[in-house]
Amino acid sequence: MKLLPNDPMARRGIEPGTVYLVGAGPGDPELLTLRAARLIGGADALVYDHLIGESILDLAPANVRRVFVGKESANHSLPQDDINHLLVKLAQEGLRVVRLKGGDPFIFGRGGEEIQVLARHGIPFEVVPGITAAAGCAAYGGFPLTHRDHAQTLVFATGHLKDNTVDLDWTALARPRQTVVFYMGVAAAKEICRQLIAHGLPADTPAAAIENGTTVRQRVVAATLATLPERIRLDRVKPPALLVVGGVVDLRQCCAWFAPDTADTADAADEAAGHVPAPRIAQSA
Ligand code: SAH
Repeated sequence: MKLLPNDPMARRGIEPGTVYLVGAGPGDPELLTLRAARLIGGADALVYDHLIGESILDLAPANVRRVFVGKESANHSLPQDDINHLLVKLAQEGLRVVRLKGGDPFIFGRGGEEIQVLARHGIPFEVVPGITAAAGCAAYGGFPLTHRDHAQTLVFATGHLKDNTVDLDWTALARPRQTVVFYMGVAAAKEICRQLIAHGLPADTPAAAIENGTTVRQRVVAATLATLPERIRLDRVKPPALLVVGGVVDLRQCCAWFAPDTADTADAADEAAGHVPAPRIAQSA
């Protein structure tokens, strides 16, 4: 890479390190890619947020510089600008930086914003895709996201509330024979379900909330568009959770296989140590 004369790295004679934007998957560490595991194992600095499990962080060398940049509540996370500049600064120190993100870095992960800043500063970077929460939650929730009889299109949307409302193209989301997955949609579940019904989806359309998908704490609350908000309230569903709307959700009645409720004490101890035990087959569907 060519450095400009005024670049701080040029002045210090340091080649910038590479920043690896790595998807850590939805929770179960076994869902990490081989490339992600290898890069974490060779990192000088690890920049991560709240959705990353301890057992994944433990793959890093003992002397890695760990920088935590976000808690679950947006109030406690480092502002995105500060994260962007932290990545630039660490790379300018010549470090191999792994920026670990839950799921896939390019799906509601602000990965695009981070690489734009890296590119602007001439920092070399690579992107490693991860299993996004929708794929993980559907697989471990026991239903497919598409199915020839139920859904020919699949939409990922953000249900993030802004000024107490969700600004989405409801007509496009309320189409038949489609699966819609809402990330960050728990707080807005009532509004989401109301809008989908108002824009033409039948009130008895299957809908589910999946909390902590792919982990031993996974919970699937299956209902309909009419009943899901109340079920979420009664069952106290909390983030991280996805909302999935569409006929495919009903297929879990035949096909659910992951039964984290049956985790025994050994598994619980395992989890306490940061490991997610291998999933087991449900006794009955
Ligand atoms: N880049 C991530 C998404 C980040 S947005 C990805 O590709 O998965 C954060 C949202 O993702 C959460 O609010 C929640 O809606 C969803 N999410 C992440 N992990 C999850 C999990 N294990 N179970 C359910 N939802 C999850």
